[in-house]
Amino acid sequence: MQAIATADIHLNALDHNLALVKHLTPETKVLALLKANAYGHGALTVARHLNGSADAYGVARIDEAIALREAGINTPLVLMEGFFSATELPLIIEHNLQIVVHCEYQLQALEALSSEHINALKVWLKIDTGMHRLGIEPELFPTFYQRLKACQSVQENIIVISHLSSSDELQSDVTPQQIALFNDCCGSGDFERSLANSGAIMAWPESHYQWVRPGVMLYGVNPLYPVSIDGVQLRPVMTLRSSLIAVKPIHAGDSVGYGATYTAREDTKIGVVAIGYGDGYPRHAKAGTPVLVNGRKVPLVGRVSMDMITVDLGADSEAKIGDYVELWGKNLAIEEVAENAETIAYELLCNITARVKIDVLSN
Ligand SMILES: *Cc1c(COP(=O)(O)O)cnc(C)c1O
Repeated sequence: MQAIATADIHLNALDHNLALVKHLTPETKVLALLKANAYGHGALTVARHLNGSADAYGVARIDEAIALREAGINTPLVLMEGFFSATELPLIIEHNLQIVVHCEYQLQALEALSSEHINALKVWLKIDTGMHRLGIEPELFPTFYQRLKACQSVQENIIVISHLSSSDELQSDVTPQQIALFNDCCGSGDFERSLANSGAIMAWPESHYQWVRPGVMLYGVNPLYPVSIDGVQLRPVMTLRSSLIAVKPIHAGDSVGYGATYTAREDTKIGVVAIGYGDGYPRHAKAGTPVLVNGRKVPLVGRVSMDMITVDLGADSEAKIGDYVELWGKNLAIEEVAENAETIAYELLCNITARVKIDVLSN
């Protein structure tokens, strides 16, 4: 019996999605985002598998990067928010990490770095073109760039980047405005550029430049959902599955689960699945969220508990203990589950907890 919540990781789907990125952006290099444990898929598994096919990896925290280095990953590794404190610089240099520089504080720390670290740091300079989160003001770019170039510790080829706030909104004019501002700032500067996340890789070819930065699409999630792009068929890398641990006949009028929020209108059978918010299944998934039992779509009913969920199998169901349940993945779009939980697939993937068994499959 397979009662344990398991995330199958389909490595061939990862290959397929990366090939699709390269097909959409044939002239560019690929910085694959591995932050948050590779969106819940296992950073080391993904890093090992993409070794040699992605040009660089991006993470958000220095600990994520050091863990990859200590496991023997030699691919260029970029800290997407750079360093948070100058005290991290020795570690960054020791582990040969690349940094995003997005503010004056970081620049000053580099200017103050001892001259023994000649050319020790590869820098990606971030401009704020409208996200208003990280990045220097566009008008500061020329002087900032010159000051960075003057730092002895900073390597020659600085890459200039920005981040899009709305690449998943095809009708919005925010992205064209950000692209225009980015182009204005960069002018005819002799440096590589990077702007596109997954949404932009799929929908905004004019944002591709020399480096693209796919995250969620590598893992098979369509950031444009429910819109799809012709010829772009992503494959889910994770299938989250578990199994039935009880089948309980109930009568019309019986209610199910905490708070007794669901009451059966007619006699039926309730299936209890060994997965809950303690595994990362979203507690806010509403009644009716689809769940696949033996490949058949049935609705979630009652509240999601820590270790279990309940589904309405129907009065005539022959489902039994041990039967296969898919929560999302190959046969059930995670985007659809996310929609039912009023969140995004990104969050569902990142929320997978440590007790979920990871099964890495080559198919
Ligand atoms: C996470 C991240 C991305 C990838 O975004 P997706 O929407 O997952 O493709 C790209 N660039 C930066 C700076 C990021 O932090």
